[in-house]
Amino acid sequence: MYWECPYCGQGQTVTSPNFSQIQMPFEIKAPECGEVGLRGIAVRCANPECNQLEIRAEIVRADRTRSGNYYILPGPETLHHSRLLPPSFAKVLPDFIPAVLRDDYEEACKICDLSPKASATLARRCLQGMIRDFCGISKNRLIDEVNALRKLLADDNAPRGVSEESVEAIDAVRDIGNIGAHMEKDISVIIEVDADEARTLIELIELLFEEWYIAREKRRMRLSKVVAIKEAKDSTKLIAKEASNERPNE
Ligand SMILES: [Zn+2]
Repeated sequence: MYWECPYCGQGQTVTSPNFSQIQMPFEIKAPECGEVGLRGIAVRCANPECNQLEIRAEIVRADRTRSGNYYILPGPETLHHSRLLPPSFAKVLPDFIPAVLRDDYEEACKICDLSPKASATLARRCLQGMIRDFCGISKNRLIDEVNALRKLLADDNAPRGVSEESVEAIDAVRDIGNIGAHMEKDISVIIEVDADEARTLIELIELLFEEWYIAREKRRMRLSKVVAIKEAKDSTKLIAKEASNERPNE
């Protein structure tokens, strides 16, 4: 099974010592939703520096034999799933992303299933915050900011790190259900969306965190490494030069 660690983000193939599953039917006869049971899944990250545990709970279909024994039906279908650990599906974001953006993102993830419209409202605020902070564009409506960003890109004036793909991704999400309306309305207007739509908006934010903030930090790190190497070389040269200058006076 392929799995991406929610703590460190490392993708990996999960094998038995790092994976465990338990399941149990509830012994309740014919409720409205039909017989159900609970499945618990735990996965440990194989990255030794991480070693964290993810735990998920799923409500699955169960059935009853003629003699009244309950059992879980085989098959991957789940009626509901929820992650218990870490407490939401939010990715752990690095500190160099502004705290206000991280807070909105984490909150949007936390309430995505409970209240998609509240989640989408937070996600929209987070997206707007990113465009303001990273791209330096500030207008009343998110849609106007997206349009301004597209124009900057067309004029070859987009902030460094903003690719055509990232603006295309924003446009693609705008075409989904009510999310587009979400971007066109004032931030105080709350629009009905379903959990899938809210999650799509969250995925867009994750993509932009990656393409904008994380990529910028990686560039910065690479650059500072190169600068450090150059400085080390320069100082070696300087020492060698000083040494050769001193020699005639010895
Ligand atoms: Zn991990």
